[in-house]
Amino acid sequence: MQFRSTKSNKPPISFKEAVLRCLPPEGGLYVPASVMDMRQFFFYMDADTAYHELVSTVAPVLLQGELNPFSASRVAESAFDFEPELKQLDERFSLLSLYNGPTGVFKDFGIAFLAAVMEELLKNNRRIMVLSATRGDTGVSIAHAFYNRHNVVSVLLYPSGPIRGLDPETFISNGGNIIPIQIRGTFDDCQRLVAEAIYDQPFAERYGLTTANALNPGRLLPQTFYYLYAFIKLKKYLQGDLLFSVPCGNFGNLISGLYAWKFGMPVHGFVAAMNMNNAFGEFIRGNAFQPKQSVPTISPALDVSVPSNYERLFSFYEEAPAVMRNMVFPEAIDDRITLETMEQVWKQYNILLDPHSAVAFAAAEHLAVSHDLTHSDAHFVVLATGDPAKTAETVSKATGQHIKIPEKLAMLRKKADPIALIDPHLDALEGAIVSCF
Ligand SMILES: *Cc1c(COP(=O)(O)O)cnc(C)c1O
Repeated sequence: MQFRSTKSNKPPISFKEAVLRCLPPEGGLYVPASVMDMRQFFFYMDADTAYHELVSTVAPVLLQGELNPFSASRVAESAFDFEPELKQLDERFSLLSLYNGPTGVFKDFGIAFLAAVMEELLKNNRRIMVLSATRGDTGVSIAHAFYNRHNVVSVLLYPSGPIRGLDPETFISNGGNIIPIQIRGTFDDCQRLVAEAIYDQPFAERYGLTTANALNPGRLLPQTFYYLYAFIKLKKYLQGDLLFSVPCGNFGNLISGLYAWKFGMPVHGFVAAMNMNNAFGEFIRGNAFQPKQSVPTISPALDVSVPSNYERLFSFYEEAPAVMRNMVFPEAIDDRITLETMEQVWKQYNILLDPHSAVAFAAAEHLAVSHDLTHSDAHFVVLATGDPAKTAETVSKATGQHIKIPEKLAMLRKKADPIALIDPHLDALEGAIVSCF
């Protein structure tokens, strides 16, 4: 599969190039340049197929010519010592739990694969630098996935405030390959610095620079795998339409679902589940998108005013607006309904949902009612994106249950010191990292 920019008609480039460049020099974001037909694989994989088997089978087909089956199974095994879990709740609902990774968030799936596939593609390459902006747990996920990867140094930029969850043993000063740097500024300053560094061609070439932020298409592709996984687990039981409900912040997760559909997964629709920061729903309905200042909610990962994947989603609508309007259904859920849904799901199924997953659950229920699907044999797969123990207080309040925090998640709160503290400028960044190269 090759990749092209959303903004230009330049000849497409390979997956390796797209992953290692991350941002097209001509602007826009990388998207797949062609569609793959994976249908034959959906027939012979079934409920007994393990996740790493699915990844080892699908990845070399998607990345033909770049990743052979042997390399793919090595990548799958080194990336995934955790799996998604599909629970069928009843005829109408299943829950796809995606929070079994090291930081208890679905983002672990994309990041783990990206790190493992980069190491594989970088065999016989020179060393590269993966520069990423983070506020917290994503940094832990990146550090976890990139630690000790051959030929890769991972630089993490943090805004002012405590840095949490990193293990100093993994830092470059202790023989590891992780470099946390604190920026005197905000998260936006950190993101700006990442983009500035990548677009600065001499700088980017000097260090072989890319990023593990969600802009990297190498995080979106592996997120298609868990949609396919849910499908093969369910295919025997499905009578009617299949819909996925996805809690949407920057829309990376939803876009991966749309790729899975483009690869031939038989799906009838996606619920774009938002909280009250739902201005983007207007765009999905076919109207003009007018960004609004975001307001804080109990599902903060969805408090996004302009989704960073806007251009990727836009390119789907540009291609086939009518098809898309029958494929993606926006729903907005407020905090009160989110809490009520957490309580209801606990009472009805004995399952704890984090607030983001509850938004998706409620959105699926709303769509079922508004589209008259409650008495049809439509089946909803709700994506559970966060471990309920990460938002224990809210989950406790909604369900009255005492939530035990697993050791793995308790470690995420531990403070760590950065390797350097710098102003948000490229020369300051270079000063801080140059001795590491
Ligand atoms: C990041 C995140 C989301 C939103 O995912 P996007 O790909 O940004 O739409 C949803 N839930 C949780 C728990 C998250 O951390």
